[in-house]
Amino acid sequence: MEQAVFLDRDGVINEVKTNRVTFVNKPTDFYLLDGVGEAIRSFNQSGFVVFVVTNQGGVGLGYMTEKTLRTIHEKMVNLLAQHGATVNEIAYCIHRPNEGCHCRKPGSLMIKQLSDRYGVDPTASIMVGDREPDIKAGKKAGCKTVLVGNRTKNENYGADAVFQSLSDAVPWILKKKSL
Ligand SMILES: [Mg+2]
Ligand SMILES: [Zn+2]
Repeated sequence: MEQAVFLDRDGVINEVKTNRVTFVNKPTDFYLLDGVGEAIRSFNQSGFVVFVVTNQGGVGLGYMTEKTLRTIHEKMVNLLAQHGATVNEIAYCIHRPNEGCHCRKPGSLMIKQLSDRYGVDPTASIMVGDREPDIKAGKKAGCKTVLVGNRTKNENYGADAVFQSLSDAVPWILKKKSL
């Protein structure tokens, strides 16, 4: 079976809540974080399948349309391509936070559906996120979990590893790849 790296988007791949970006509601709000292109390229080269799994409740709440979300993702794909990096698929939940869907993280439906479709073994895979719902979703699906970002709190939400950035997590993640 395949091994996958499941990546949360905001705060893992791109800036959020920085001096130039609050939320990403349009393509001009989208800035790749340092080293993300190189990190994803290294996952590609190591034979991982790479997915983005992102909560985008802003669509359900009316802050952007699904069409705009897709243009944001086109920009992401283009920026990653400049680093020779690709993602195999982008899964997103557009439901409102209290709608009760099963796709929104901490739900694990996005991870489960991608795993089924791509023949991925979730227990041999890694979920990377910057917030508790990401870690919960990964654990629910049976993945190893990596928490990234500038930690203001000491909480690690039970993640298997904690790093400052996706870039810093690369060696840990590559060690999980079996031949
Ligand atoms: Mg995030
Ligand atoms: Zn949903």
